[in-house]
Amino acid sequence: MKHYDVVIVGSGHGGAQAAIALRQAGHAEPILMVSRDRNPPYERPPLSKEYLAGEKPFERIMLRPEAFWAERDVELRLGCNANEVDAEAHSIRLSDGESISYRKLIWAAGGDPRRLSCSGADYAGIHTIRSRRDVDALRTEIEGGARRAVIVGAGYIGLEAAASLRTLGCEVTVVEMLDRVMARVAGEELSAFYAAEHRAHGVDLRFETAVEKIEGENDRIAGAVLSTGETLPCDVAIVGIGIVPSVGPLIAAGAAGSNGVDVDEYCRTSLDDIYAIGDCAAHANPYAEKSVIRLESVQNANDMANNAARAIMGDKREYDAVPWFWSNQYDLRLQTVGISTGHDDAVLRGNPAARKFSVMYLREGRVIALDCVNNTRDYAQGRKLVEARAVIGRERLADLGTPLKEMV
Ligand SMILES: Cc1cc2nc3c(=O)[nH]c(=O)nc-3n(C[C@H](O)[C@H](O)[C@H](O)COP(=O)(O)OP(=O)(O)OC[C@H]3O[C@@H](n4cnc5c(N)ncnc54)[C@H](O)[C@@H]3O)c2cc1C
Repeated sequence: MKHYDVVIVGSGHGGAQAAIALRQAGHAEPILMVSRDRNPPYERPPLSKEYLAGEKPFERIMLRPEAFWAERDVELRLGCNANEVDAEAHSIRLSDGESISYRKLIWAAGGDPRRLSCSGADYAGIHTIRSRRDVDALRTEIEGGARRAVIVGAGYIGLEAAASLRTLGCEVTVVEMLDRVMARVAGEELSAFYAAEHRAHGVDLRFETAVEKIEGENDRIAGAVLSTGETLPCDVAIVGIGIVPSVGPLIAAGAAGSNGVDVDEYCRTSLDDIYAIGDCAAHANPYAEKSVIRLESVQNANDMANNAARAIMGDKREYDAVPWFWSNQYDLRLQTVGISTGHDDAVLRGNPAARKFSVMYLREGRVIALDCVNNTRDYAQGRKLVEARAVIGRERLADLGTPLKEMV
């Protein structure tokens, strides 16, 4: 059986950064990165933005030039699934039948897009956006003449896809079960602003509505039947309703976890010598009052990768990185810092009509998060307020005459 010092499962943001961080820290033993994806590591955020809109080719979204991995002596095994983990034997079984042994295993397998469960959900023309392959398939259909799109889910990915499809000239309807856009991650003020922007760009938004059935013709989607009884004729659908963490083999091997796999403050799972990072790793986050959550962001994947790599190199530090995130829709750049879930007050700073403003979220008088729209200055300066959980009066927070850095 071939042996590697470190085996990394997944070649997304977390997996790639883990390999980079290990080498930067002087790790010189063999590293293997196994991934189901057939492409060398690439960025995922552009998949619903510039790559979907055709504004960036694949070469410009690669995390490193292709030669980088061989130069750093990181072996890539692409198009290959990790099917089984034997935690006691310290080995994994791959989909090509080979078994590999490891000293340390880093599980960075992200998640698989949740799919529709209604009748007709298997028709051709129903897409998700998680991999390059997903987006290439969608783009091929749009280039082939698909014009009418139904997007299921008004979260970040659904809304970014809506904006990209509008720039490609598609007619777009977004169907959302809840009563506003980005309901799980943003306050009401921000949701209202983004809903108005999408409508102004010609997107038809339907709230408190579900897709109950997909109608087809010749095994291809022809329409989405809504809970309102209406049928939306369409050529393609995009389903953006979240992910299912890709942790099956780890859980089968005995790792603790219900929503993903549980990790401690050093990204260690309950199994010896197995770490988990990124979208699939449930952890007690200090910015969520230590509640156990999974964060789906590039920041979290990279910072957990650094944390796990350090722990493997004997430099253990508790995971306490400040969460941050961004989303581009049309000419709007949303940047968030902190976690707003559980806020009991929100302060608007600036004027949404000027398309440059921030929303500051408070809990028990402390600043816990900011959403900044076209306002990089507030975002950069506000981070310190979140780190300090600063207590600052509402009026002062809203005062545009006082830069946030002066409030720390
Ligand atoms: C369309 C889109 C837009 C996004 N936009 C933003 C954004 O604007 N800002 C932001 O901060 N975040 C954004 N995100 C989220 C961000 O990309 C993820 O949080 C990040 O990619 C997580 O990294 P990861 O390494 O945990 O997982 P992933 O990047 O998903 O990588 C997981 C890898 O594991 C592989 N894999 C899975 N199971 C197995 C297995 N059993 N064996 C082998 N390989 C396996 C997969 O093929 C994949 O290569 C976006 C995500 C998507 C999909």
